[in-house]
Amino acid sequence: MDTRIERIKALEVVSKRLEPDGVQRADWNQKVQAYADQFIDKLPDAKGYVWPEKVRDWPQDCPIGETPRELDELLQILEREVDEVGLNPASGAHLAYIPGGGVFPTALGDYLAAVTNRYSGLYFANPGAVQLENQVIRWMCDMVGYPADALGNLASGGSIANLIAITTARDHMGIKSRVVESAVIYLTAQVHHCVHKAIRIAGLGEAIVRTVPMDKRFRMDANALRAQVESDKAAGLKPFLVVASAGTTDTGAMDPLDAVADIAEANDLWFHVDAAYGGFFMLLDDLKPTFSGIERSDSIAIDPHKGLFLSYGLGAVLIKNVRALYESHYYRANYMQDAQALVDEPSPADLSPELTKHFRGLRLWMALQLYGLAPFRACLDEKRWLARYFYEEIQKLGFEVGPYPDLSVMIYRYLPASGDPNAFNSQLMELLHRDGRIFVSSTTIDGVFWIRLAVLSFRTHLSHIERLLAMIRESVEVLDKIWLQGA
Ligand SMILES: *Cc1c(COP(=O)(O)O)cnc(C)c1O
Repeated sequence: MDTRIERIKALEVVSKRLEPDGVQRADWNQKVQAYADQFIDKLPDAKGYVWPEKVRDWPQDCPIGETPRELDELLQILEREVDEVGLNPASGAHLAYIPGGGVFPTALGDYLAAVTNRYSGLYFANPGAVQLENQVIRWMCDMVGYPADALGNLASGGSIANLIAITTARDHMGIKSRVVESAVIYLTAQVHHCVHKAIRIAGLGEAIVRTVPMDKRFRMDANALRAQVESDKAAGLKPFLVVASAGTTDTGAMDPLDAVADIAEANDLWFHVDAAYGGFFMLLDDLKPTFSGIERSDSIAIDPHKGLFLSYGLGAVLIKNVRALYESHYYRANYMQDAQALVDEPSPADLSPELTKHFRGLRLWMALQLYGLAPFRACLDEKRWLARYFYEEIQKLGFEVGPYPDLSVMIYRYLPASGDPNAFNSQLMELLHRDGRIFVSSTTIDGVFWIRLAVLSFRTHLSHIERLLAMIRESVEVLDKIWLQGA
């Protein structure tokens, strides 16, 4: 008997444990599905945030080793240590940061993508998968008013989408290392911090970054931008990139995209729009004018895991000139020579830093196709009106508000009869977090502490806004009393 074959056969017996039979799969499927169903059914009453009384070092009790564990045990750990504590982004009670929610077809798409494991990085490997991903990217390009030959890439989120855009801008505008120190980038103090990260990661850390002044509504002041660009050019510097926001994270502000586009065109700047939060509000006809000028940009970051309510893990970058995106990201390796046979359709691997990748387009395609666009539109419209409703109602409780919400994010703060408003509002914030029924977050702008409202979970409805208003009313009463005693 050939000992090699004996050995191989013995190993095969054990390695085949990685392929569960139909009975085992049915059992696991049923348990996972039951867990998921129970999770979803409990969401209407779930808190937006569960304050962790004490954080346990639970992996100690459950080391990774040779012995397999039962799925029931793992689901119990998941429930106790992960799904019942901290922030609950699946809940409609999540009104902090930028919520999303996680529409169910995301799970279906991910499940199938995981089981079938199609290779969606190269057209050669799977023309259908690449076409599917490119279809959803082209649909987004069409929504923002880009031409039919524009394309982009599906990334894991807005941060990577912004990074891909900024890298492309750097290369297309000829910013080689020796000119970085005189290269100039324009943005406002309200730009998302991932843009600063992207600038550094893209090797532009030594470039000059101009923080363009804003108007009272936290929108980029276009006149100030023009003046700054002109004076930088006169000083012999190399202005090359302006980053505008279509919906800032802090206040939901929309930069004046058309005016920025004029300046970018006149001065040969790459015009990038960070629409990670706000972009999908373009699906609402009456909000389209707010986005006017976005179609004149060179690149856009937009997050389906925010504005289309998908589970986390999907942001998109849209680039008008695909050639530029390609020039920054393609590679021809010898071991990939077979992949060059087909060039009919651009491949994600040539348009992003990734090679082997999650077939993440499937989840978005599933959601859009299973529901059609109408419920997404209605949902975005509802969220926008909920923010407007809150804006009016919170003022009736004596709160000062920031700008009227262009989209669905706004800021507000209570002005106590006496004492430091920042201290009052930060205590109020803590009370609201300890309550946790509805979860909101805060920000500080120019030294002023503001509480934020960000309505974007597809599960957030009027009852949540009413609950939040009631919570705030109760908490302010409690605090007011304490403050009066203190005074
Ligand atoms: C959320 C957000 C980002 C970052 O996107 P991630 O998906 O969290 O990486 C960038 N810009 C804006 C305006 C955002 O709201």
